[in-house]
Formats: sequence, C-alpha cells, structure tokens
Amino acid sequence: MRNLDIYNPANGQKIASLPADDAASVAARYRLARAAQPAWATTPLAQRKACIERFRAAVVAQLNPLATVMTHETGKPITMSRNELNGLLGRIDFFLTEVEASLRTQTVFNEGGMTEQIELAPLGVVANISAWNYPWFVGCNVILPALLAGNAVLYKPSEFAAQTGLAITRLLHEAGVPQDLMACLMGAGDVGAALLAQAVDGVFFTGSVATGAKIAQAVGQRFIKLQLELGGKDPTYVCDDANPKTAAESLADGAMYNTGQSCCSVERIYVHEKIHDAFVAAFVATVKGFKAGDPMADDTYIGAITRRPQLDVLERQVVDALAKGATLLTGGARLPGFGNGFAPTVLSQVNHTMDLMREESFGPIIGIQSVSGDAQAIALMNDTRYGLTAGVYTPDENRARQLLAQVNAGSVYWNCCDRVSPRLPWSGYGDSGMGLTLSTEGIKTFTRPKAWHLRKV
Ligand code: NAD
Repeated sequence: MRNLDIYNPANGQKIASLPADDAASVAARYRLARAAQPAWATTPLAQRKACIERFRAAVVAQLNPLATVMTHETGKPITMSRNELNGLLGRIDFFLTEVEASLRTQTVFNEGGMTEQIELAPLGVVANISAWNYPWFVGCNVILPALLAGNAVLYKPSEFAAQTGLAITRLLHEAGVPQDLMACLMGAGDVGAALLAQAVDGVFFTGSVATGAKIAQAVGQRFIKLQLELGGKDPTYVCDDANPKTAAESLADGAMYNTGQSCCSVERIYVHEKIHDAFVAAFVATVKGFKAGDPMADDTYIGAITRRPQLDVLERQVVDALAKGATLLTGGARLPGFGNGFAPTVLSQVNHTMDLMREESFGPIIGIQSVSGDAQAIALMNDTRYGLTAGVYTPDENRARQLLAQVNAGSVYWNCCDRVSPRLPWSGYGDSGMGLTLSTEGIKTFTRPKAWHLRKV
C-alpha cells in the first residue's frame, strides 16, 4: 500500500500519512460508481436535496475543526479558512434553492397531439480533479450540483488539501450520499491520470494551465464533457477620478488575501499617472500593515505559500523585474524562520517585458504600472493569454461600463475585486479555461439535454 504524506507548509512538519490510491483501486472505484449511479438518478430530487441539507448542517456543526484541518495542510490563515467555510454555506443555499427550477423538464411545444420536451438528464459518472487553494469552494462547486443533478462523482482532491477532500467526502457519506456513488481518490497527478483513463462521462478540472492542457489531451479523443477552470493574471485599472486611498486599500486586499493564492487575486494594477504616486503610497502603507506568520493566529493575514516550488517562482519574478528596471517598495524575499513564508511584495515602475506582469504569480506580490489614460489601460489589460477577471475603479458608472465592455474576461468588477458570487457564472477567456461553474448554468452543466418528441395516437 502506498502512502501520501502531508506536510504543514507553515513549519515543514509532517502531519499525516494517508493510504493512497493506485490505478487498480481507481478502476475499482469507477466500477462501483458506475453501478451506483442509475439508482441515484431515479432517487427523488427531494431526497437528494435532503442529503445536501444534512451535509450543510454538518459543516456548520464542525466548522472550527474543519477550518483547522484546512489551515494545517494549506497554510491558509485560520480566519480565512473559517471565511471559506462560512462562504460555502451561501453557495449550498443557492444550489438548494435553484436546483428544482433549473432541472425541471420544459414543455416547449404542445399542439395537435404532438408534445416536445427538453429533459436535463445527468451526465452519468463525472470526475472532479481539484486544486488546493480554496478546496471547499472548488470541490463543492462541482460535487454538490453534480450530485443534485443525479450524477456519481469521483473526486480527486489536490494532494495539498487531501485531508479536506477526505472530510468533504466523509460528511457527504454521513449525510446519506451512498458510499459507492461518491469516492475520494487519494494521491497526486498519477492518480488524477488514472482517473482520466476510466470511461467517465465528464471531467471537471480546477488547476493550472499546464495540467489543464495535459487533461485536454488525455480526454480529447473521447468527446466527453470537459471543463477547465485555470489560472489568471487578473488586471485592475484605477482611473484618474478614483479615490487613491480607498482604491489602494481595496486592491491591496484583493492582491494579498489568501496570501495571494486565489485564481482571481488581483495580479496587475494600472494606475492613471495623475494619481499614481498617491495610490502607490497608500497601497504600500496598507501592505505594511499586513501581519505575516503563524496561520493559526487570529491576527495573521499573510500565511504560508502552500507549494514550496512556488517560492522559486516568486523570487524569479522579483529578480527579473528588478533586472528590467522595476523599483522594489516592500518585501521581495522569503520570510526567515517561517516555513514557506514570503514577504508581501510591491513593485512599481514595471512593464510587460517582465514575467511579473505576464505570468501568474500566485503569491503575495504585485506590480503597479503607471498609465497615461483609458486607451493604454485597456490595451495593457488585454495584453495577456489569460482572461479570468478584470476591474475598474472610478466613481463614474458609465465610464466603468464602457471600459469593462472592452475587456476580455469572464468576470468584470466595478469598484470591487477578488469576488465570486454563487448567482453568477464563473468562467474564463483564453488560457483561463473553458466551461463554467456556479449560477443556474453551473447546475445545468452537469446534465445533457435530452429532446423528447411525443405523439399521442
Ligand atoms: P495543479 O494543476 O498543479 O493541480 C490540480 C490538480 O490536478 C491536482 O489535484 C493534481 O494532483 C492534479 N494533476 C496533476 N497532474 C495531473 C495529470 N497529469 N492528470 C490528472 N490530474 C493531474 O494546480 P494547483 O497547484 O492545485 O492549483 C493552482 C492553480 O489552480 C492556479 O493556477 C490557479 O489559478 C488555479 N485555480 C483556478 C480556479 C478557477 O476557478 N479558475 C480556482 C482555483 C485555482
């Protein structure tokens, strides 16, 4: 039996060694899930909903220990772990409220004895291969609507949030989801690859562009549903009429919350030259107030970088930017004596020759570039292979709407950032992926429309 070792990124200590899956156990889980799915699909929706309601109650009852597990394995500050779990409740409520209307069979024609209906049938057995940075959100965005829609789910959590993956699965089983219908597969990329080798009916992936490309290649010949939620290099433009201090405070949080390890973290800031200096001063002052350290402390804002190799990426981006003329205003290096700690880092005088402004950083680091006006800002915002989110700060709604209409991004923000709503679809342009989760479309995405032509004789 192989084991998956789990380490605490805040201090490097081994915290668990979990039995891991292999190709044979993954194939066995697939066969069980395939056999269990038809009965689940015909279980009344009210019963499927009741399971998810009990799951919600268990999350509420166990919120603190669940948050602690997540913080220990990912290095996420404990207040943010609690915030994620509390935020999950709103997503569950949305799915429970909307699922019935979203999945209802529609009669679209009924004349002269001929009836036409659209049924939303479950896909069957779906694979969910997931990331570690918001493990409850990205896991449950797929698992819950997929189960509600009548699918079996084979879930491969990230090896960096494996205990959280096990907790999600345990709570669903305890809430009444049949054991065989929902399985948690333990392991790293090889276990994900073994899952893709099964005859699943859909693959729902959250993670990096590089892995997304491998997954697309692995399933490309099979004509099954494929969704990829990938990275971003999310820009924000601060206009000349914005309040530099309030914009800076909001954007510092948007760039550094979750230690900058959010797919929708603000990763590039363009500021109109008229307010550039005031904005930068307020931004640096805010960042200097962020407390870095023990993720279990209630007042910690900057926790650990979850994956150690990412420290090298951050260091390389700083070195590259400085070599090309950037100015380092604060941070710029690892935090001594603190596991995978990296100081919150702000650079100005940056430009698009630097990796910092082109490649996802996924850490507490930001480049701020001065621009001469709206046209240059839009050109720079769209100068990217990604397109997850983008924002504009200005008191002028018309100006914001006109600017955001020109930006290639799945979500656009006016005077806000780093925000996800269960009511709105979550999707990306370009290398940020394909398909969507959340919103009522994010329930329907786990179904296939079946057309019924019914003639009375
Ligand atoms: P990753 O690509 O390293 O891993 C994601 C998952 O894929 C893990 O479970 C991993 O074990 C698995 N995997 C790795 N190789 C595989 C293979 N060959 N076949 C099948 N599975 C394989 O990504 P990560 O480090 O876990 O997550 C960080 C990335 O996720 C960032 O780029 C971030 O922007 C992105 N992300 C995107 C969203 C979104 O909604 N767009 C949300 C969260 C995170």
